[in-house]
Amino acid sequence: MQRYAVFGNPIAHSQSPFIHGQFAAQTGQLLTYEALLAPLDDFAGSLQAFFAAGGGGANVTVPFKEQAFALADELSERARRAGAVNTLIRLEDGRIRGDNTDGAGLVNDLLQQGVQLAGQRILLLGAGGAVRGVLEPLLAQQPAEVCIANRTVEKAEQLAREFADLGPVVACGYDWIDAPADLIINGTSASLQGELPPLAPSLVKSGHTTCYDMMYGKNTTAFNHWAENLGAARTLDGLGMLVGQAAEAFYLWTGQRPDSGPVMQALRHTLAGA
Ligand code: NDP
Repeated sequence: MQRYAVFGNPIAHSQSPFIHGQFAAQTGQLLTYEALLAPLDDFAGSLQAFFAAGGGGANVTVPFKEQAFALADELSERARRAGAVNTLIRLEDGRIRGDNTDGAGLVNDLLQQGVQLAGQRILLLGAGGAVRGVLEPLLAQQPAEVCIANRTVEKAEQLAREFADLGPVVACGYDWIDAPADLIINGTSASLQGELPPLAPSLVKSGHTTCYDMMYGKNTTAFNHWAENLGAARTLDGLGMLVGQAAEAFYLWTGQRPDSGPVMQALRHTLAGA
């Protein structure tokens, strides 16, 4: 039986064993998937032991994605662009390939939920690891423009420069923007503290703008609450991105595309009762 795992620290909260267990049941794959706590000072050792014992693949979460990037023997183009790896695959020759499925998870979730990306004006809030990871797949959908807004403007400008060859991407500070966007994606960690970036209310066009918070939880996030109050056409949270990145990793490991819908429903139910 093939063995998979997610590495992180902390890791007890991870939904990945549940998600991959559901995917395996759906597709009839015989596999195990566990959550492994890697010591903060020896992620490399934990990973090496796992693959030496026959592990077939792994997910990597906070705070090890950049280390996984450095440890992989080869990288997908999207992982190279992201500068971070969330999925490791053991190749037939024993080498380890690093990939990043976070961006595909977001884009697939948006498309599955009927959100149009082609030709749209997208405002992307934040310039950390999550935003870096989604830029390539987002630009591949041919939006009219992606504007990256960040508290530290230099980080947004750096990202815009790095990804400029892939499509129309610009950088800005929060106080430079007030024209309505078609889609606003919150990729800041402000929601974790129940906070909001300083956003002009005019960014949301009532009944038109869709707002997506990469964060998810039992309650509506501060960003989605703000958007709802301004009459956003739709608000979505990052649960679909979480399940989407897992579905993409599962596909890389097994060649099978699982159905995310029932897994999202089950997770939403679990969160509501938490
Ligand atoms: P990082 O720490 O790499 O980046 C954090 C970003 O948030 C930076 O741009 C930072 O700005 C900004 N920020 C933090 N606090 C504030 C604030 N109070 N006001 C304005 N901006 C702020 O985090 P990640 O990129 O890894 O994660 C970002 C979010 O995405 C998290 O909420 C995380 O949970 C979520 N996420 C969800 C996933 C999913 O599957 N649903 C997957 C990955 C991430 P500055 O540069 O100025 O410091």
